[in-house]
Amino acid sequence: MVSLKNSLLFVGLSLVSIQSAIAELPTHKTCNNPGEIALTFDDGPDLTNTEKVLDILKRENIKATFFVNGKNYVNVRNDVNAQNLIKREFEEGHVIGSHTYSHPEAGITKFTEQELIDEMEPLNQLLNDIIGVRPAFFRPPLGEFTPENGVVLEKLGFTANIRWNMDAQDWNVKRNSTEFYLTKLKQSNPATDSFIALNHDINKLTATSILDDVIPYIKELGYKFVTVDKCIGLEPYQGMTRDIPVEQEQPMVDGSSIVPANEGDLSNLTSGATTNKVLSFISVIVLISLTIFNL
Ligand SMILES: [Zn+2]
Repeated sequence: MVSLKNSLLFVGLSLVSIQSAIAELPTHKTCNNPGEIALTFDDGPDLTNTEKVLDILKRENIKATFFVNGKNYVNVRNDVNAQNLIKREFEEGHVIGSHTYSHPEAGITKFTEQELIDEMEPLNQLLNDIIGVRPAFFRPPLGEFTPENGVVLEKLGFTANIRWNMDAQDWNVKRNSTEFYLTKLKQSNPATDSFIALNHDINKLTATSILDDVIPYIKELGYKFVTVDKCIGLEPYQGMTRDIPVEQEQPMVDGSSIVPANEGDLSNLTSGATTNKVLSFISVIVLISLTIFNL
């Protein structure tokens, strides 16, 4: 009996700990393995600079991660060229993450649940229409989100919040980004360090000089370029798509084929919240058994 009690107690406590582990959207700032660097690019696509960034990555044989918006520098829903840039990113082996639909200027921390859903779902839907998958990785505008935001993001199927430990500050015109990058890299050690590097593919300097200067140095130091999924060891896309199976060949996207986002129905999404409810239920059953049967 004692061993049964111990077993049940162990199961109950394990479930509770699994439950609390998935209750919070985990944040990642570094890769799991030293010697890895994940270049990430926010705020695109941009009709001028994103293509240049993609050309550099192709030439250097580097796969990166793009945290895209639906309507920021260009309204992707109405622009075939912008859709084709996202398609190119995906087809060339880069990972696509969500940076919200409209990149709210003040961030998302004050959003209600519905406001956040309305900000996230249109982009999930748009990406599903363009590349046939929904992103699992999220990067909030300004890098900020609350635990309440995290619960909603999990409901929407996101599995990770991706921050960074290297900010190229390519958006800061007062700063010499290249110098900043090189200094930080020089002080690092690939035997112990890894990086998730924040860049912006909408930025002309990034597309025309910074990457050209820093990539050779990163290679020289011996770092390995990885996409964020490899960096943190998680799948980059959600397990199920609602409208178009991933295996199915995608039609050419044009503005008219995009399904309006507000037609979405969240009821059949896989989510951490659902898993949580199931685990809570099982935990309660185990604990009640322990009490009733006085084990
Ligand atoms: Zn941004």
